[in-house]
Amino acid sequence: TSTFDVLRIREDFPILNRKVNGQPLVYFDNAATSQTPQQVIDVIVDYYSNYNANIHRGVHALSQEATDAYEQARIKLQKHFNIPQAYQTLFTSGTTHGINIVASGFSEILKAGDEIIVSALEHHSNIVPWQMLCEKTGAVLKVIPMTDSGELDMNAFDALLSAQTKLVFVNHVSNALGTVNPIEEIIAKTHQVGGAVLVDGAQASPHIKADVQALDVDFYVVSGHKMCGPTGVGMLYGKEAWLEKLPPYQGGGEMIDQVTFEKTTYAGLPHKFEAGTPNICGGIAFGAAIDYMNAIGFDAIAAYEHELLVYATQQLLEIEDLRIYGESKDKTAVISFNVGSIHPYDIGTILDKLGVAVRTGHHCAQPIMDFYKIPGTVRASFSFYNTKEEIDVFVAAVKKAVSMLG
Ligand code: PMP
Repeated sequence: TSTFDVLRIREDFPILNRKVNGQPLVYFDNAATSQTPQQVIDVIVDYYSNYNANIHRGVHALSQEATDAYEQARIKLQKHFNIPQAYQTLFTSGTTHGINIVASGFSEILKAGDEIIVSALEHHSNIVPWQMLCEKTGAVLKVIPMTDSGELDMNAFDALLSAQTKLVFVNHVSNALGTVNPIEEIIAKTHQVGGAVLVDGAQASPHIKADVQALDVDFYVVSGHKMCGPTGVGMLYGKEAWLEKLPPYQGGGEMIDQVTFEKTTYAGLPHKFEAGTPNICGGIAFGAAIDYMNAIGFDAIAAYEHELLVYATQQLLEIEDLRIYGESKDKTAVISFNVGSIHPYDIGTILDKLGVAVRTGHHCAQPIMDFYKIPGTVRASFSFYNTKEEIDVFVAAVKKAVSMLG
């Protein structure tokens, strides 16, 4: 048993005290969004109470304070992901935005016949932008197939790679199944054929501290709201040469050098990709969330969450006809399951009545559901502030739902 002081940590999260349908909340929808600690809430309140101002343009004190705090938050992200330079650490509105910046930029680089590889385990946000890109450029989309255990078929990946491979897009961790993908191998092999790799770190970032230089990844994207930060803010890391090469995504203020009606020249990095007034408070709060998680420590978080995963898996498997999808040895604390032919939505509805929040449906990953020939799953996803006692409540609630529906 661990020495992880989860009860202390829970005191940081005011929302965990609330009741839902008269029952204490058991929040197991962390893969959709994480909860926010008081330390981050305080930063948000402080910003709007004391130094709310637009950044990068005012000479007045508030504007400078806001600019300093925002740029310090950028440096927190830079350090966390071991990014070489702060200007390669771009603020975005989230993972989806980061992916679209890269996809849109590549529409001016790719030619007909070039190949893009995505994985069968992707979130829709890492599928649809590439399909749109292929339609625009005539590039061809190839898919790394998955296996029954919810892992990527790496032999098939080897066979897909060729001199035509220009880009590979893969998530670090699958949000639907929790599988940790072998991104090191994917990156190294793609580089051997001269392609670039974008890793979607949305689901990995709350559990794994990625080092973009050690990974040698070309692009890495995350969302603040999965890491105890607010919604509407995220990060895109890119290798400098790529960020210089890609055209801007949006035009507007902040992203220019000189503007005349004859010709506009663009600002340097990171401003080239940060048109318009950004989510200033969100960026500052994202930095605070990263500080909060690092103070607990990612190794401690991963070890504790793994304990929760093992504990919950053992108990759930005692339920007759319960099938867990995704049996990779390397997975984060996500359990996607169905019981017999009961519709996942029906289980989710009963769990909600009992105060247990889970996600039901296709989890924005319809191709995975099609692979298993199911309409969706019930997905319980754990965070470092969850407890074994909550898992007991959840398992009892699943049993009750099954006895009512079965
Ligand atoms: N990729 C993965 C793996 C995700 O889990 C999510 C969020 N569910 C996204 C992308 C999209 O992130 P966002 O909605 O924050 O842009």
